[in-house]
Amino acid sequence: MKKSLIAAWMLIAVVFALGLMGLAGRSILPNTQKEKITVPDPGVSDSSVSIRVKIGDTVQKMNLDSYVQGVLRAEMPASFELEALKAQAVAARTETLYKVENGPVANHPDADICNNINCCQAYKTEEDAQAAWGENADYYSAKIATAVRETDGMTILYQDKPILAAFFSAASGQTNNSGDVWINDLPYLQSVQSPEGENEVPNYYSIATFSQEEFKSTFLSQFPEADFSGSANTWFGAPTRNDSDMVLSISIGGVTVKGTQVRSLFALRSAAFTVAAEDGNIVFHVTGYGHGVGMSQYGANTMAQQGKTYLEILEWYYTGVTVAPYTPKTLASDN
Ligand SMILES: [Zn+2]
Repeated sequence: MKKSLIAAWMLIAVVFALGLMGLAGRSILPNTQKEKITVPDPGVSDSSVSIRVKIGDTVQKMNLDSYVQGVLRAEMPASFELEALKAQAVAARTETLYKVENGPVANHPDADICNNINCCQAYKTEEDAQAAWGENADYYSAKIATAVRETDGMTILYQDKPILAAFFSAASGQTNNSGDVWINDLPYLQSVQSPEGENEVPNYYSIATFSQEEFKSTFLSQFPEADFSGSANTWFGAPTRNDSDMVLSISIGGVTVKGTQVRSLFALRSAAFTVAAEDGNIVFHVTGYGHGVGMSQYGANTMAQQGKTYLEILEWYYTGVTVAPYTPKTLASDN
């Protein structure tokens, strides 16, 4: 009789204690504090985002995961480290969402993005890539798919919006401030050190040679006011450079031009160059490859070889960003 009474009281006590605990759990935060907690954006999966991609003359609808794989196949060697490929996948996804959210460009009002590298991003079908990969085809296909799947939905954000995720091949020691290369100087595209060099990058140092006549006529086609009447040794002024040794401006034939203009006019691999008259020719010595803004792909691969993760790589090259899941504000599938 006594035993069962004790047992009954114990049961009541336990039930009461559990009730208190439950109550305590629910009221652990005062109301004011509860309101401050923001639920992070869980983001959407790439497979539920549909985008319109202009490939050549046709516009195809495809899911973001398929598209990012296609960009990865075209934009970065599949032999690169997985963490570098993951960084590239996030950059490609971010660049795509940036374009989706900022509206179609005049070049293709009916598509979110295109495969013209001078406008958007390169794209390669699995068939074309597999043909080029040969005996590594299955391995590289799986690696590309893994890089996209393991970063599903991850996006580079600045002030909670996808960034213009610029990338290029190889830096000349440092990346460039966006304002040194383009009209806009964006806070997240600023100069940082980049670890790759001649051991990591094929043709890290390159030479471009032109005859004096060829050089003159090419330059005059764009800058007819230039004066090449003196000896070739007098044609070039001392350039101004930024921290990555990129030429900001240089006087050629008495005309001050931008390093980026010289790069495109003479198809140099980068604007980090020296130029001089040598043995009757005009010779450029060039370092690195690409515009130098944002993530260096060879730099990303070198960092991955040093054990850095894709998040560390992205946060290194894009200043002050967060990399997080994201839900696009406007989806092409809603159109
Ligand atoms: Zn485009």
